[in-house]
Amino acid sequence: MGIRTGAEYRERLRDGRTVYVNGERVKDVTTHPPFQRTIGTIAALYDLQHDPAHQSLLTYPSPKTGHPVGLSFLITESAEDVSRRIRSEEFRAEATFGLMGRMPDFMNAMVTDGAVAAPMLSQREPRHAENLIRYYEDCRENDLCLTHTLVDPQIDRSKGPAEQADPEAALHFVRETDRGIIVRGARMLSTLAPFADEIWVGPFYPRKPGEELYALCFAVPMDTPGLKFVCREPYDDGRSAFDRPVSSRFDEEDALAIFDDVLVPWERVVYQRRHRGVEHASAAGDPATHCCKALFAA
Ligand SMILES: Cc1cc2nc3c(=O)[nH]c(=O)nc-3n(C[C@H](O)[C@H](O)[C@H](O)COP(=O)(O)OP(=O)(O)OC[C@H]3O[C@@H](n4cnc5c(N)ncnc54)[C@H](O)[C@@H]3O)c2cc1C
Repeated sequence: MGIRTGAEYRERLRDGRTVYVNGERVKDVTTHPPFQRTIGTIAALYDLQHDPAHQSLLTYPSPKTGHPVGLSFLITESAEDVSRRIRSEEFRAEATFGLMGRMPDFMNAMVTDGAVAAPMLSQREPRHAENLIRYYEDCRENDLCLTHTLVDPQIDRSKGPAEQADPEAALHFVRETDRGIIVRGARMLSTLAPFADEIWVGPFYPRKPGEELYALCFAVPMDTPGLKFVCREPYDDGRSAFDRPVSSRFDEEDALAIFDDVLVPWERVVYQRRHRGVEHASAAGDPATHCCKALFAA
């Protein structure tokens, strides 16, 4: 595959994901009026990669296929490579008046840097490093658009997630299955959520002893069963771009991400504390096993 067109990007958003705005479920983000013009802006960025006038600035040949792929996936090996990445970012920032800090190339850079750092992961769990490198290549070869979520819900910041009145509120590991791990809880905020193909869930705060269940890193498609997004009110109120030159075209949206017993396949797990053959359960009355009970009872 390699670089996508704006039409291919838009078509892939029609996946039946679970997105709520103002309490209403949005059936198709591509036809939801307040989303359409921002989707148009992002689609135009994808199309720019195919423009002969800009292709050498925005793409490079895939090390795997030779086809053009997004330059924000370039693993830099020289000062010139770094300059090339900077020039392509500057071009996109100029194209959006610096108003879209979470355009696709933001997370492209994060998964690219993750792949470079993967050998560190393999010291602990080679499988996680393999998964991260494969994911980077998938994102590059399919020109994916990612959102990301790193932060626990804002409840009582004087306490860690396991000490909250509801230790289930923040996203945490529940149990292992043959196919992968089950996760449950919320994370905030996912900028670009309604417009992304996949969500990257990564670390932010250093986790403390007793917070092992909250130490997670993985990525899943936006239409994964059990995954829901509650968006803030959109800025685009349908007024003309003349009257609303900014909010009509550059609203990246932000959303709370809710994981309702989401299955994360093993090949998508980048970090998780292994709990061999142990069923972990919630404080909500599911039969609890040793670890959780000790943790949640603490
Ligand atoms: C527009 C926008 C877009 C965002 N997009 C993303 C995104 O795409 N992905 C993502 O992962 N995150 C995103 N975020 C979340 C962002 O990472 C967090 O807002 C940021 O990390 C601060 O966390 P918080 O909002 O929970 O504030 P808090 O951590 O709750 O802080 C609120 C206030 O409380 C103070 N405080 C916090 N803890 C303590 C404590 N223990 N003791 C005393 N004072 C304390 C802080 O200093 C601050 O003044 C976004 C945020 C915004 C506003």
